[in-house]
Amino acid sequence: MRQNRWNDKEAQARVDAAGSDPADQTLALRVYSSRIIGADPDLVMHGGGNTSVKTERKDLFGNLQKVLHVKGSGWDLDTLEAPGLPGVRLAPLLEMRKLDALSDEDMVNMQRSNLLDSSAPNPSVETLLHAFLPHNFVDHTHATAFLALANLPDAEAAIHEIFGDRLAVVPYIMPGFALAKKAAEVFDANPDCEGLILLKHGHFTFGATARESYDKVIEHTNMVEEWLAARANGRSFDLTVQRDRSIPDADLAAPVLPLLRGAIGRLRGAHHASAPRPVVMDVRSGEAIDAFLHRGDLEQLAQRGVASPDHVIRTKGRMLVLGKQDLASGREGIQARVDEFAKAYHAMFDAQNQRVGGGKVMLEPHPCVAWVEGLGIIGIGKDASAAAAAADIAEQTVEVMTLGEAAGGFRPIGPDDLFDMEYWSLEQAKLAKAAAKPFTGQVVAVTGGAGAIGLATAKAFAREGAAIALIDFNAEACKAAAAAIGPNCLAVVADLTAKGAADKAVAEIVERFGGLDVLVSNAGAAIQGMLLDFDEDTLRSSFELNFFSHLAMARAAARVFAAQEHGGQMLFNVSKQAVNPGKGFGAYGLPKAATFFLVRQLALELGGSGVRVNGVNADRIRSGLLTDDFIKSRAEARGVSASDYMAGNLLKAEVEAHHVADAFMALAKSERTTAHVITVDGGNIEAALR
Ligand SMILES: [Zn+2]
Repeated sequence: MRQNRWNDKEAQARVDAAGSDPADQTLALRVYSSRIIGADPDLVMHGGGNTSVKTERKDLFGNLQKVLHVKGSGWDLDTLEAPGLPGVRLAPLLEMRKLDALSDEDMVNMQRSNLLDSSAPNPSVETLLHAFLPHNFVDHTHATAFLALANLPDAEAAIHEIFGDRLAVVPYIMPGFALAKKAAEVFDANPDCEGLILLKHGHFTFGATARESYDKVIEHTNMVEEWLAARANGRSFDLTVQRDRSIPDADLAAPVLPLLRGAIGRLRGAHHASAPRPVVMDVRSGEAIDAFLHRGDLEQLAQRGVASPDHVIRTKGRMLVLGKQDLASGREGIQARVDEFAKAYHAMFDAQNQRVGGGKVMLEPHPCVAWVEGLGIIGIGKDASAAAAAADIAEQTVEVMTLGEAAGGFRPIGPDDLFDMEYWSLEQAKLAKAAAKPFTGQVVAVTGGAGAIGLATAKAFAREGAAIALIDFNAEACKAAAAAIGPNCLAVVADLTAKGAADKAVAEIVERFGGLDVLVSNAGAAIQGMLLDFDEDTLRSSFELNFFSHLAMARAAARVFAAQEHGGQMLFNVSKQAVNPGKGFGAYGLPKAATFFLVRQLALELGGSGVRVNGVNADRIRSGLLTDDFIKSRAEARGVSASDYMAGNLLKAEVEAHHVADAFMALAKSERTTAHVITVDGGNIEAALR
């Protein structure tokens, strides 16, 4: 059951913060009730659904004019603010209803040219529908329960059974002018209705106040949930808690996900006639999903279509199914299913493109959702947020299909309507917002990720589009650093000197993102003292951290690279100690010298599979190794100030963590460079490499 989240105090707080203009206060209430709708993923998700309010504002001449504030593209309801509800002059919108037809381009242009703020985002493609309804507040959701209802084979009978005349039914038409006109006609014929249901699409409510319209969203949705539950053994669902990323059969993830990721990356590369273009994955599991994946009609359901038309741009119209048998035959089995998917997509595109008279350019033919027996459902996208969006929608679709099938059947829009939606320019524009960055789609793991150099390097890769996994033994610091990078950054807490820890850490990354492309092996620590004075255990422990953990990470990463067949990269934080010993740093320099050698040996052994291996020799960076106290004592020992000590190099300038990150990034972008080590120390002739 949906919870009614309306809270008078919170609503009033929004109004109080909006200032004295009554229009701004109305808009504040619109923001408030939009956000409580958005807070429930069973009502709306990822740009699906939108809200509006009609109000009056003075123009520059002091004349009052009617204004529609409607959700703008690029904004989600759960995080909406006033600028996400651009104001459009209402009169010209209403005038449009007189037209017989209006092209999408003309509609968008007309909406834009009537914006109060010319720099505001594009008003929703459903703006005219909001405009044509006479009510002040209008709420449009794609609620899970309504999607199950709207896609029933005999939806109208079920709607009548549940609502009588309280809801009016609008037949399926693609969003835009024609749908807006039809919905307005249906409303005019049923002026006493409390809302509209758009077949195979979603739900509308309206009211004089924000509260009135919102209460109906919840009431109507709960009426449908109750009706569906009675037909599905009392089934209840809650997507806010479902989003479960723990994989039940973790042993299955390690071999399957990199193979699937590799196959899709190569397919994308082939589509663009370029090198493989990796994707990010997002695996969801849990009881409901597990039960769903054991259904006998999975193959059929996978081809049936999407729960709401706009889902197609994030999930495509068909899901990839991998059964136990496909998985048992390993690489060949998975590759065959991906090839089969792409072939079917090509055939669908060719036939549909012919139907619409040609001129469409085929999108990437890879699956965006995979249903994998024993593993879960996988969202697949060009980056972590696209993968998460696909996974969220796929989870909702599992509920819609399960409920719908129990109540009579899941019968969404057919292939023609699906194609029109997938290749609709206005929907494609939603996705084209962000141009790809150099590391978009790549997964980068940074060990010692909570330290100064590790975090600076991780941030640099994140800025360039990568999905990031931070590995660190300090749990608190690791989680804080990951949070600083963003919601899609994975924190892996691991002591990489423990046996099997590197394998486990890499497995965790594979479970979260589907694979790995760049390993930044950075963890390390220096112990000081004369070499001959150390006891053997201390010396060995330095080797564990400063050499063997790097080797273990390299081996674990190499196995993932081999499964993906994408190539890959390893970047090692070596040290100037590897080539230029410092007195008292022998126990650090010895394993670092071995790691220096490791760069070259791995480059030699992995070059044939396209894996590049490089390193950085950094020196004198403020970090966990080189604390302020330590700097002070070193500076005092040399009779110089701390800042002179830190700038004691040829360039006379302190080297900072971000300079080291720059060097890692330069190596990562140097596509024909391997077995190379860059020095980042401000210049030190004794440590210069030959
Ligand atoms: Zn909609």
